[in-house]
Amino acid sequence: MNDSQAAHGGLDDAELSQLYQEVILDHYRSPRNKRELEETTHTVTMNNPLCGDVIDLLLQVKGGRIADVSFQGKGCSISQASASMMTERLKGQSVDEALALSGTFTRMLHGDPEAAGSTELGDLRALAGVAKFPVRVKCALLAWNCLQELVGPEA
Ligand code: ZN
Repeated sequence: MNDSQAAHGGLDDAELSQLYQEVILDHYRSPRNKRELEETTHTVTMNNPLCGDVIDLLLQVKGGRIADVSFQGKGCSISQASASMMTERLKGQSVDEALALSGTFTRMLHGDPEAAGSTELGDLRALAGVAKFPVRVKCALLAWNCLQELVGPEA
């Protein structure tokens, strides 16, 4: 077993990328938190005209914490899976924690190896391979750009 296999529970790179593709397809086919939201405090719609992706992000923020989150929209598997995975992670986080996660994820998509190795990202690392395809990076970041728009420092 080499170092790469040891780091990923004995899977080689081909098995790992297959596993990651399955994670992305699973979220695309069975999106989490794709629904209406009660008591929405923040909402935004953003699109990625290069690919035709659209994401509506809905947040219910209470006391600086994301009490509930959902999304609606349509588009490619990368954009929809990224939104689904993001909502799964954000629920219950403080706004600051959510923005820190967003920062790490964005750096991973821009090819920062340190960010890509961050255990903080968990399943979101399934999208690390997208960094090699600049056109698709916008797909993966669309939901996160919605988050930044709603609660980021510029909001
Ligand atoms: Zn797309």
